[in-house]
Amino acid sequence: MTGFEERSRRATALAERFPASAEILRFYAAVAAWQASHASSVARFEDLGPRLPSLADLVAETGPAPLADAARRLGPAPPDAWILEHWESPRPLSAEGFFARVLMQLYASTLPEAMDCPWCPAPPLTGCLTTQGDGQALHLVCALCFRRRPFMRAKCPACEEMEASRLVTYSTAEFPQLRLKACDSCKGYLLAVDLEKDLEAIPEVDEMAGLPLDVWAAETGYRKLQPNIAGI
Ligand SMILES: [Zn+2]
Ligand SMILES: [Zn+2]
Repeated sequence: MTGFEERSRRATALAERFPASAEILRFYAAVAAWQASHASSVARFEDLGPRLPSLADLVAETGPAPLADAARRLGPAPPDAWILEHWESPRPLSAEGFFARVLMQLYASTLPEAMDCPWCPAPPLTGCLTTQGDGQALHLVCALCFRRRPFMRAKCPACEEMEASRLVTYSTAEFPQLRLKACDSCKGYLLAVDLEKDLEAIPEVDEMAGLPLDVWAAETGYRKLQPNIAGI
């Protein structure tokens, strides 16, 4: 499984290639590097709370203004119940939810490979496409544990629409590895990453490079199934 350090390196590399998304990619690179340096000291859920002040310091220094403001308002280590609430029920990303999600990703990465996290059944953060026979196979990626699970390519992950004319895929030359997969029934979309187009791609990182596609999707009336850590 991809580690936090690889994600951080990938985000830094993508920031050079995609100037329009460079700001969020650089911020994510810093967050993933922070996760890499704390991952080995998290074995139990109770290990998460005490790491919040360190995360808050990082975000207050390097985060976008709304998150940096929220970081300055955070108190000392939160009660475990606060993180547990976020763990047990995926919710729309808020400033508070951002801190919980970054911490919980550390714990989710310690779960045994076969064990789903509580967010695995929730709408996916992104997807990835790989060659399978004459066509392509789709895997969906969990927003918390980043595990990939196979999913029918011709089906909406949100409303299960299977009518081909309602399922649309957009791509642009600017982002050769990205596919915006949208559903005209529920108006949900995600940015999937075609791993054949870039062998070094990491779905949960590369989808952040597609910020201009997210802006276009929002203007077109689509909504993202699951926002990324930058709230997009
Ligand atoms: Zn999961
Ligand atoms: Zn749908």
